[in-house]
Amino acid sequence: MTGKTHASCGFLVGALAIEYYETDLFISVTVVTLAIISSLLPDICHAQSRIGRRFKFISIIIRLLFGHRTFTHSILFVSIIAALLYMIQTPNYYLITIICGLLSHVILDMLTPRGVKLLYPIPISIKFPVQFKTGGLVDLSLATALTIGGFYTLFQSYFNNFINHLL
Ligand SMILES: [Zn+2]
Repeated sequence: MTGKTHASCGFLVGALAIEYYETDLFISVTVVTLAIISSLLPDICHAQSRIGRRFKFISIIIRLLFGHRTFTHSILFVSIIAALLYMIQTPNYYLITIICGLLSHVILDMLTPRGVKLLYPIPISIKFPVQFKTGGLVDLSLATALTIGGFYTLFQSYFNNFINHLL
């Protein structure tokens, strides 16, 4: 999936987290930002990705150590991040947001023909029975749908009020 699709899924994750935890404005902005960053983070192993370009050095090191779509796309990686965040006593709304952001990335990549090494270091590629090409029509439509979903989640109370007003 493209960075855009991952970021829009992160945006939706952030919007849902805000809705669920009923956070205030400052925390909400941080939640959405963290959600988008974590939804892109697993591709840090990919030097050409949006996040990889920004952190080229780390990106190259991780890639040399593990290769693309292996460690950073595994249950092991997500668990390590979760454990670290838990250890530094990250508030639940941030912790859950980051974990869901990371998982959203892995799940989306499981929809691509290459799949992911979900069980790293066990070297098997795991993917869903249905797959879509990165940059293809489904990928682009997915990005749009996820973004709309995110905005709808954020503004659904206003939206509902508006509809009720019309009826
Ligand atoms: Zn990826």
